[in-house]
Amino acid sequence: MPDTIIQPTIPTTPVTPAILDSLRAIVGDKGLIADDQGKEPFITDWRRTRVGNASVVVRPATVEETSKVVKLCYEHGIAIVPQAGNTGLMGGATPWPTHQGIVLSVGRMNKVLNVDPVGYSMTVESGCILQTLQETAAAHDRFFPLSLGAQGSCQIGGNLSTNAGGVQVLRYGNARNLVMGLEVVLPNGDIWNGLRSLKKDNTGYDLKHLFMGAEGTLGIITKAVLKLWPASKDVATAWLAVRDPQAAIEILSEAHSASEDNVESCELMSREATEMVLRHIPGVQDPLKADTPWYLLMQWSSSRPKAEGAEGMSEKMEQFLGEQMEAGRVLDAVISQSESQARNMWKIREGVAEAGRAEGPGLSYDISVSVSKIPEFIDKGIAAALAILPGLRPHPLGHIGDGNVHFGFGAPKGMDRPTLQQYAPAVTRAVNDLITSMAGSISAEHGIGIEKLDELAHYRSKIELDTMRTIKRSLDPKNIMNPGKVLRLS
Ligand SMILES: Cc1cc2nc3c(=O)[nH]c(=O)nc-3n(C[C@H](O)[C@H](O)[C@H](O)COP(=O)(O)OP(=O)(O)OC[C@H]3O[C@@H](n4cnc5c(N)ncnc54)[C@H](O)[C@@H]3O)c2cc1C
Repeated sequence: MPDTIIQPTIPTTPVTPAILDSLRAIVGDKGLIADDQGKEPFITDWRRTRVGNASVVVRPATVEETSKVVKLCYEHGIAIVPQAGNTGLMGGATPWPTHQGIVLSVGRMNKVLNVDPVGYSMTVESGCILQTLQETAAAHDRFFPLSLGAQGSCQIGGNLSTNAGGVQVLRYGNARNLVMGLEVVLPNGDIWNGLRSLKKDNTGYDLKHLFMGAEGTLGIITKAVLKLWPASKDVATAWLAVRDPQAAIEILSEAHSASEDNVESCELMSREATEMVLRHIPGVQDPLKADTPWYLLMQWSSSRPKAEGAEGMSEKMEQFLGEQMEAGRVLDAVISQSESQARNMWKIREGVAEAGRAEGPGLSYDISVSVSKIPEFIDKGIAAALAILPGLRPHPLGHIGDGNVHFGFGAPKGMDRPTLQQYAPAVTRAVNDLITSMAGSISAEHGIGIEKLDELAHYRSKIELDTMRTIKRSLDPKNIMNPGKVLRLS
């Protein structure tokens, strides 16, 4: 909702020709993009609704180069916008229009430095693409669980900086739970080496957690030690037509014991969200012809291979779904019979953001409430939004095991983006007030960036905001590290 957010004051020291020469001396020609066409993808956000500015995009190849670039910027008071895959949905990686400093892209630091299958860890540079890390783990018969729709282009540095969630949080936790150590370049250019492969380390403040979820406002993550798990050997994926969201949370609640604690993912989908994907994403099939309002995509997995003649995940799931049909919670269901059927189900879930972008103007809220309150939130939230703008087309979905609903709406048919934006502040206030009254969060997994700058200020207490400001000011006294994001300093 770009136009309603007033830009905070940010440093506007320009990159002079002399500083550009110094940057070139550090990273070489390969590490600089200064022409308008080359810069365009780095200054435009994923949704293409926000375009900023930058003097130059700097792409260091090592932590030492990163440190020298940041030191130079610190010395001259030049603002830095850290960027990884630029798939963030809150504008955190997009510079403000008056930004005169640099975008620092970590994409050239993309090496896997070490895989330790016995110790279940791997050490990686922050520009590694998430999917490459999943594949690297699999090649060592291990599993790296972070999984989300943008995994082919987002990078681990961005995932950690947004404390990304995704579809496996239910079992493995969000990004910050998958990390043992970090290396970070601080706003003054110093390198903090916290690259430890330790599961236990109670030596004072746990600094790594400051940088995860900070959206690049406290430093630049350059390396990480990630945790690994055993690879899955027996997987069952199913698409269920369910009675309603209340039935969905009850199904999940009972699935834990029925699967012997093997529920890996549980994603609620509305019919509207499913149809939006079928309209816009080529090659996706509707798994069930049942035209019901709610679906559940559920996956169970075990690291133990199915023994000859024994019950595996599919058989256990089939029995469970039969019981749930008798209980009236499941109306119809299909368990995938092949890798490609399972892939198709996941393509529907993962295609929602892309389909939403193709669908046209809309409003989107990434919220969380406690799991048992999801049905109440969906009912009341839709009613509150429609009371302000009748004709909005709700397409909710969510990681229901995490209490996380992606509460999206298409604009009323025929309404353009500027007209929709006139209603956006009132709908946002109604939705976020409701979440707050239900003790929920206005940002479950996407972060704050620019888009929720004012919402954070509105809903967080003075003591929380002041504590965050104290941390920001002490680590970044010149306010050069992703200024004007997450937190208004005054
Ligand atoms: C199709 C699609 C599906 C998505 N699904 C999910 C989902 O299920 N769950 C979820 O949580 N998110 C999801 N997202 C949002 C997005 O993919 C995540 O936020 C992702 O973690 C961002 O990674 P990135 O590499 O693109 O980071 P960027 O967009 O480049 O950056 C994100 C933020 O981190 C900062 N940053 C980037 N790299 C560094 C670094 N090395 N050091 C310090 N700061 C840095 C940036 O300044 C910015 O504030 C989805 C996005 C898309 C487009």
